[in-house]
Amino acid sequence: MGILKKTACIFSLFFISYKGICQINSVKHPNIIVFLVDDMGWMDTSVPFYDSTMPLNNRYHTPNMQRLASEGVKFVNAYAQPVCTPSRSSMMSGMNSARTHITNWTAPNKGEDADEPDGEIAPLNWNKNGLNPDTTAKDMSHATPFPKLLRDAGYYTIQVGKAHWGATGTPAANPHNFGFMVNIAGHAGGNPQSYLSEQRYGNMPRKAQPQAVPDLEQYYNTGTFLTEALTREAIKAIEVPIKRKEFFYLNMCNYAVHTPIMADPRFVQKYYDEGLDSIEAKYASLIEGMDKSLGDIMDYLKQKGIDKNTIIIFMSDNGGLDQHQRGGPGNTHNYPLKSGKGSVYEGGIREPMIVKWAGVVQPNTVNKNPVIIEDFFPSILEMAGVQPHSIIQKMDGQSFVSYLKNTTLKEADRPLIFHYPNKWINISLSDEAKYGINYFTAMRYGNWKLIYRIRNQKFELYHISKDIREENDLVNENPAEVKKLAMLLGKTLKERNAQMPINRATGKPAPFPDEIIK
Ligand code: CA
Repeated sequence: MGILKKTACIFSLFFISYKGICQINSVKHPNIIVFLVDDMGWMDTSVPFYDSTMPLNNRYHTPNMQRLASEGVKFVNAYAQPVCTPSRSSMMSGMNSARTHITNWTAPNKGEDADEPDGEIAPLNWNKNGLNPDTTAKDMSHATPFPKLLRDAGYYTIQVGKAHWGATGTPAANPHNFGFMVNIAGHAGGNPQSYLSEQRYGNMPRKAQPQAVPDLEQYYNTGTFLTEALTREAIKAIEVPIKRKEFFYLNMCNYAVHTPIMADPRFVQKYYDEGLDSIEAKYASLIEGMDKSLGDIMDYLKQKGIDKNTIIIFMSDNGGLDQHQRGGPGNTHNYPLKSGKGSVYEGGIREPMIVKWAGVVQPNTVNKNPVIIEDFFPSILEMAGVQPHSIIQKMDGQSFVSYLKNTTLKEADRPLIFHYPNKWINISLSDEAKYGINYFTAMRYGNWKLIYRIRNQKFELYHISKDIREENDLVNENPAEVKKLAMLLGKTLKERNAQMPINRATGKPAPFPDEIIK
């Protein structure tokens, strides 16, 4: 550190209240926005993430995502976990869900188990209360969350919208415990009770459930759809650091497009006119409302002249819903991907991801390196110039910043793990097998994907780069690859201290995948 800079830093310590600013070496730091959508599928956009434009890309209208993609890079092999809390807590901690033991969504009430009961398999003792920065809490995974590190380094940190890191009555329900200085509408709830201001976003007298959205009283009965209210609040919140000339981190988490599938009145008519059924028209309107939210924030950054120094990372937390509450036939909502939310097939885990970083990312580019949601932790810290010193957890994520700077860089193969030893929903055993739901673990490794059905200890093998729909199971044709991948999957799960469910009849945990390979 030069004498001048050192002097300035010591000088600033007397006058700047926040600590740790001297950890950052450069004078100017990027603002960072993660725009995390809830339950948005890979195909729920007019931006094609597949090799060609598909019918669903023509159904949905997301002009602002198109704009973002034209200014940034599309990651076409980006992944998250099959449901909300595992992905969200992995993002906050940098740990894979096999390690956090947060392998299912957390119910809003403390101690409540979202796992469905099962006749063959006993309930798993997973971290059903979620993620906690406090190491003394029980039934919780412990981690130093990255927003806390950003705040300590001088970032103004803002949470807007869905949090869903754990249960009410635990520290996980309060975004302030994760290092956020401002929290608007984030709590233990995993969906909005209502998107409508006329229903006070759920806060109706004697009708409010744990999913009633907090903090938005000023919008009640104003005709403001939830997505719009959150967007206006986000813009108001970032005005503060902009005025103070501070750098900020915004965790922009729209509740859209999670159920309840309700019409966004600003956009729904067009989809009715296009002949979509009522549910699918409403769903498409939720998507377009979310896209307007993105566009409004992008416009505001430009208006304030800070768009060039603000990184935007667009992501979804799991695949598009397919099993229930949707219109039209099943297993079509994420086509060409198979299945949807809750599944370890691609429809449940492959995500639309875009990164814009002016001056660093080459506009309108595509990156094929596989990335996963725990990579956000080290990536965001690297973007901010903050070292993950003194974190209490073992991190599984790897920074993707080098791919942003060098488009030709190719990642060495590494195991991306989707471990779901829980029962998400009650469906028949044949549907479990068909849709890849309940008691599965899976691994993407290079071009390959190995799926292990824990209930009956059966493998499936797909060459995912050639067979994105996962229709051509190569398990019998390529036993050598199955063996190699099963060994790697088992080893990685054990390294991460992963849990396996217990068979009621034998009282023993199910074998890890490497243990049944001969
Ligand atoms: Ca979700």
